[in-house]
Amino acid sequence: MLSRTGSMARLSRDIGFYNSVTSSCYAREELVLVATILIVEDEIPINELVRRNLQSVGHRCISVFDGKAALLELEQHEVDLVLLDIMLPEMDGYEVYQHICKTPTIFLTARSSLSDKVKGLTLGADDYLVKPFEMLELLARVDAVLRRTKKESKHFELDGVKIDFESRQVFLNENPVECTPKEFDLLEVLVNNRNIALSRDKCWSLPGATTMQGIQGRWMSIFRS
Ligand code: CA
Repeated sequence: MLSRTGSMARLSRDIGFYNSVTSSCYAREELVLVATILIVEDEIPINELVRRNLQSVGHRCISVFDGKAALLELEQHEVDLVLLDIMLPEMDGYEVYQHICKTPTIFLTARSSLSDKVKGLTLGADDYLVKPFEMLELLARVDAVLRRTKKESKHFELDGVKIDFESRQVFLNENPVECTPKEFDLLEVLVNNRNIALSRDKCWSLPGATTMQGIQGRWMSIFRS
């Protein structure tokens, strides 16, 4: 039986022209907005590799393999971005896009002619990426679209911790956690950059961060409790 690492290595080799990246090498360059991303791609190895790379930088992903499933998911879940292959079974990506044009979309396609690119962009898509592509380029384009389009989330929940960014309240297992304005500022920075290893210096340089370094340990203990 292949290990998880071994499975991914074989997957990468099978579709050799795609380069996998790690969260650490990407996160060093720039902070990433975390989003919910719907991947619509019928080629299973590509869908899987795209999903794993997006997840590695902290995004939540939903994978579907045809257009009808994409529309069903969009009816049931709020997503921030759709990665939409054009050549799909039953309903092609252009047709799918007619139904989802309010959701930011990047077309992923093997079609590389100028007319296809123009069609995708004139329909209103936010970007267009031709296969084969470098995974690092995909992550950069995803990040660029999210920075243009993503609305700031007003709530965050994880394992019993609830944060209301509007009222600036924190709850642990439904019990309110008292915090000072500076403590809340730092918590907001950490949540908005979750799943990314932030150096202490980087953390303090971010908007909203504080110089009260002792606060960090307090939030660490709350999230671990
Ligand atoms: Ca396809």
